[in-house]
Amino acid sequence: MELQTFRNTVAGQEVESASGRWLASANPFTGQDWSRIPRCDSEDVERAVMAAHSAFVSGDWPRMTATARGKLLRRLADLIERDAAKLAALEVRDNGKLHAEMLGQVKYLPEYYHYFGGLADKVEGSVLPSDKPDMFTYTKHEPLGVVVCITPWNSPLLLLTWKLAAALAAGNTVVIKPSEFTSASTLAFAGLFREAGFPDGVVNTVTGYGHEIGDALVQHPKVAKIAFTGGDATGARVYAGAAKSLKHVALELGGKSPNIIFEDAVLDDAVKGAISGIFAASGQTCIAGSRLLVQRSVYDEVTSRVVAFASTARMGDPMQPDTQVGPITTTAQREKVLDYIRIARDEGARCVLGGKVPEDPSLAEGWFVEPTIFADVSNDMRIAREEVFGPVLSIIPFEDEADAIRIANDTIYGLAAGVWTQDMRRAITMADALQAGTVWVNTYRAVSFLAPFGGYKQSGIGRENGQEAIHEFMQTKCVWLSLSRGVPNPFVLR
Ligand code: NDP
Repeated sequence: MELQTFRNTVAGQEVESASGRWLASANPFTGQDWSRIPRCDSEDVERAVMAAHSAFVSGDWPRMTATARGKLLRRLADLIERDAAKLAALEVRDNGKLHAEMLGQVKYLPEYYHYFGGLADKVEGSVLPSDKPDMFTYTKHEPLGVVVCITPWNSPLLLLTWKLAAALAAGNTVVIKPSEFTSASTLAFAGLFREAGFPDGVVNTVTGYGHEIGDALVQHPKVAKIAFTGGDATGARVYAGAAKSLKHVALELGGKSPNIIFEDAVLDDAVKGAISGIFAASGQTCIAGSRLLVQRSVYDEVTSRVVAFASTARMGDPMQPDTQVGPITTTAQREKVLDYIRIARDEGARCVLGGKVPEDPSLAEGWFVEPTIFADVSNDMRIAREEVFGPVLSIIPFEDEADAIRIANDTIYGLAAGVWTQDMRRAITMADALQAGTVWVNTYRAVSFLAPFGGYKQSGIGRENGQEAIHEFMQTKCVWLSLSRGVPNPFVLR
C-alpha cells in the first residue's frame, strides 16, 4: 500500500526534512503502516525555531492588534469546523481511538479558538496607585516570544489546542512537535493557518523522534517557553533541559486519579462513571480514573456491577459507530499495559475481568488489550501507584470519608478526582480535601475551554483553558514615568 505523505509547515511553506528522511506511522487497528512524516533533526529544529523567531520580531504579526489576532483565530475556528470530519479520521487512523470520541473532540476545537480569539483583546494592564506623587506607573502584558508545544499521541489536536489557542491569542509564535506516532492530523491542521490569513512563520511544525529532536527544541536559545503534555519521565527531562536557559515551562503530565463511590451514591450512575473513567479511550487518557475507591458497604455490589458492565464493552474497529473499546495506540504501550497486568497478578491483586489480549480472530491484527479489572487492590501496590495508561482498573475498598481522603491523596499525582454521592455536605467536603486540579462530582471526564485544567503535585505545572491560561503565555511589564522636573539624589533608591 502506498503511504500517504504529510509534510511540515515552516515559514508558511510545506517542507520535508533537511536530510530527506521519513518516518512511517502505523494504524493500531490494522497494525499496518499507512502514512509517512518527515524524520527531522537539529537542522530542521533550527529552521522552524528561526522561522518562528523572525515572525515574532518582524513582519505583520508583532504589528497586528490583539483584535486582529482574535479575528484570525475565529477564522481558523471556521476552517476547523469545515474540515472536522477529515481531521478526526486522520486521528483515528493514527491513534486507534474511537471515531465518535475523536470527531467529538475535533468538532469542539472551534470553541477554544472562538473563546481565546475573543479574549485576545481583553487582557488589560492597569494604572497603578502610587506612593510616589511624581510618578505615573502602569502595567501591560506582553507575549513571551517563541513557544514550543510538545504533544502526545492520545488526543493530538485537542491537547495542542489547549496550548495553541492561548499562546496565539497572547501574541506568541509557535513551533509544534507532535508525537511521532500521531503527527498526521497536526500536519494537516497546520496547513489551515495560511488559509485563515495568519502571517507565515507564526505556526511551524517539526516532526520526528522525541529523543532525536527534543533536546534541540527544549534547549534552543530563541525559545521562550515549552508547553508540554506527556509522560512524567519525559516531562522531568523537558523541565531539566529548559532549566539550563531558565525558560518558562508548563507541564501536563500523568495521573492515578481516584474515582470515589460512596454508599449513598446513585449506583447506576456511579457504575457508568467508573466505566467512563477508565475504559473510554481504552484508558489512554491522563485523567483516567484508574483507582476506583468504593465504600466497603457497597464494595461487592459495585465491583460485580462494574465487571458486568465492562464485560459487555464491544472491542473493534474504532471507525465503527458501535465500537466501544479500540486498540492501544502503540505496540510499546500495549507491552507496557500487559507488563502491569503481570505485575498486578504477582502482587496479589485479584483479576476479575480481562487481563489479556483478546482471542477474537477479527481483532488479531490490532493492538488490543481486554478491559481489565483488579479487585481487592491495596493502595501500596504498584498497580495503584503507577500510571498504566491503558484499560486497567484497580478497585480499592475504603471505610469512611477520612479513609477515602487518605487513600485518594496517597499518590505522587494530583490531576483529577471523581466523587459519587448524593450528600451535598460530603461533596463539598471531599472537593476541598482532594489534592487534585480537577474534581468532578457525580460526573467524570468533563472538560471545557472555560474551565482551568492542570495538575497538583507531580501531575504538572501551570493551567490550560479558562481566562488565566492566556497569562501563562504572557509576561508583565511595569512602566514608570517620572512627572518631576528634576532627578533627585542619584545615589539612593527611589
Ligand atoms: P512521552 O511523554 O515520551 O511523549 C510526549 C511527547 O514528548 C511526544 O511528542 C514525544 O515525542 C515527546 N518527547 C519524547 N522525548 C522527548 C524529549 N527528550 N524531549 C522533548 N520531547 C520529547 O510519552 P510516551 O509516548 O513515551 O508515553 C510514555 C508514557 O507517558 C505513557 O505510557 C503514559 O503513561 C504517559 N503519557 C501521558 C500522557 C498524558 O496525557 N498525560 C500522554 C501520553 C503519554 P515522540 O512521540 O516522538 O517520542
